[in-house]
Amino acid sequence: MGEQRATLLNRELGIYSLYDLLYYFPYKYIDRSKVFKVSELGAQLQHVQLLGEIRSFEEMGEGASRRLVAHFTDGTAFVDLVWFRGIKFVKNKLQVGKKYVVFGKPSMFNGRVNIAHPDVDDASMLQLDKMGLQPYYNTTEKMKRSGLNSNALAKLVSNLFQLLVHEFPETLSQDIIKKHALMSLDEALRVIHFPKNLKELQAAQYRLKFEELFFIQLNILNYSRDRQKRYVGHRFSKVGEIFNRFYHENLPFELTGAQKRVVKEIRCDVNGNSQMNRLIQGDVGSGKTLVALLSMLLAKDNGYQACMLVPTEILAEQHCATLRRMLGNLPVRVELLTGSTKQKDRIPILEGLENGAVDILVGTHAVLEDNVQFHNLGIVVIDEQHRFGVVQRAKMWAKNSVPPHVLVMTATPIPRTLAMTLYGDLDVSVIDELPPGRKPIATTHILRDRTHSLYSFMRHQIDEGRQAYVVYPLIKENEKLDLKNLEDGYKQLCNVFCDYKLSKLHGKMKPKEKDEEMRRFASGETQILVSTTVIEVGVDVPNASVMVIENAERFGLSQLHQLRGRVGRGASQSYCVLVTGDKLSEDTRKRMEIMTTSNDGFEIAEADLKLRGPGDMEGTQQSGIAFDLKIANLARDEQLLQFVREVARGVIDADPAHDNPAYRMVWERLRTIKNMKNWNWGAIS
Ligand code: ADP
Ligand code: MG
Repeated sequence: MGEQRATLLNRELGIYSLYDLLYYFPYKYIDRSKVFKVSELGAQLQHVQLLGEIRSFEEMGEGASRRLVAHFTDGTAFVDLVWFRGIKFVKNKLQVGKKYVVFGKPSMFNGRVNIAHPDVDDASMLQLDKMGLQPYYNTTEKMKRSGLNSNALAKLVSNLFQLLVHEFPETLSQDIIKKHALMSLDEALRVIHFPKNLKELQAAQYRLKFEELFFIQLNILNYSRDRQKRYVGHRFSKVGEIFNRFYHENLPFELTGAQKRVVKEIRCDVNGNSQMNRLIQGDVGSGKTLVALLSMLLAKDNGYQACMLVPTEILAEQHCATLRRMLGNLPVRVELLTGSTKQKDRIPILEGLENGAVDILVGTHAVLEDNVQFHNLGIVVIDEQHRFGVVQRAKMWAKNSVPPHVLVMTATPIPRTLAMTLYGDLDVSVIDELPPGRKPIATTHILRDRTHSLYSFMRHQIDEGRQAYVVYPLIKENEKLDLKNLEDGYKQLCNVFCDYKLSKLHGKMKPKEKDEEMRRFASGETQILVSTTVIEVGVDVPNASVMVIENAERFGLSQLHQLRGRVGRGASQSYCVLVTGDKLSEDTRKRMEIMTTSNDGFEIAEADLKLRGPGDMEGTQQSGIAFDLKIANLARDEQLLQFVREVARGVIDADPAHDNPAYRMVWERLRTIKNMKNWNWGAIS
């Protein structure tokens, strides 16, 4: 192809090589093995193929609606073919009375069926038995303007196949191919572009999805197997006195079944030979802190120290206070270390860490500084994981020759498929049960002009002694306007609730001011907290019973659920009110519906994944991993993913030293993929 087209392919689609082109798969296929009658057409039909002639042309409309209409018929009825662009070109090319095959998607306009911008070819092009399914490739406007449309791409791919003299070397081992009845790679690549029928296409799709997911899983499992071999872990072999006293004397309630199960899993991990690396997912309020504390007491009983890392100072203070309160007078020394710990308080804490007198340290990233040295750090708990990346995890390990066990806790439930793909090096536990007696949060959706009744409802709650959050969105691109919205909202609320005290909180404030405002609200000095999403993570004010989310249409599902989780932590019934404008997109309507009908974080996360696709999920963005699967879809291919994970595990078990000739191509392929420049399967290398 010419230079200009090559440049377009580079720039617009990231296609640089024949390989890239080969792996640029069609996004849909259209059956051209059939010809429709014009009289059969309605707006509901997908793409159709027609055979007939143009009787006359007509130019209509002005400006943007200027168009060329060709009146087309096959003798059964008439249909309008319509062009808004390239009118001159079309008029010159097409002739009245000549037989054409027309291909396009019918729609309704002013009560008439029409087809906009159809493909029109000579009738002699029609070869029904050979045509099969026609591939459609995504292209950009820029490409279309230069004639590099889907058809042109199909031609390029078809030329490419003609240039190929050898079969594509197989990338999966024969035993896998036989056992799972897979199409060969060579056949699958040909069929995926030019399938003859649906059955064949599905077999090719299955093979290519299988392969894509298989290598991702092989990579992750291989990495974690490797890590297990490399790192021995501290062994916490006994459940000792303090754990038992806490469990039997201090604990005011029974653990939930899910908490018990997860604690068991952790005990099993830390009593083995390797380092624990476990992710605990638990919906807001599921009691993760307690699980963390029990794990840290295991460390203490076995002569080790523990450290709990949290993303903000407010949270660190809360956690420290909670742990101290729960431990009562058990001989466990808990200390707090954050950026604002005063120098004179620091010295004894640092000393205690070095000589082992401090058992549990709760802190922010200040804990990662070099002058913080532990006597023998046995376990690190990272709360609200997404603020701490892999890098920081690694930094914690570096503090000791034997790395501490790592427990990562997150309240942003990540659908299993995504967790298995993103955090494949972590084992995953799920706390899928809330403590008994929790009342589900009553969630409603109201339109902005109904805020009057909302205010009287809030007043009612506050008069009963409760507190309320009012949250505004804030995004970088729109920061000025968003802050103004927040300020305006704050002023208005101050007017409406002039007999109460209000707090205001946003990310632009100094940390000191933020902490102070948060403290005022937490202590009940103020009744309403107006803020941006800075309160999203972890904050615990059990007395707050109302969460109002302004401009709710601008939040993703997971974020809405996280925000809602800030209430419903006390004994009283809690409420969440989603406020939106009255013009709602289909997508927003769905999100509001899910929020008002479900309180289940996992259900919501699954729905989120389906609505937005994995690329936009919070988990993905925060881990900084671009997600660019070519054919598999994490939302839809969950079963296949789990299945190939086992297949990949089988390969690792069968060929641990990577020296079995039967699997040579598999390891080679993995190496090749990882060397590609657009390798993007995450932080794992
Ligand atoms: P999260 O998982 O959101 O971090 P927390 O650990 O803050 O949840 O727990 C929420 C509340 O539930 C706390 O007040 C805690 O004391 C309480 N809690 C935890 N486990 C149980 C349980 N098994 N039974 C009753 N209450 C519990
Ligand atoms: Mg928590």
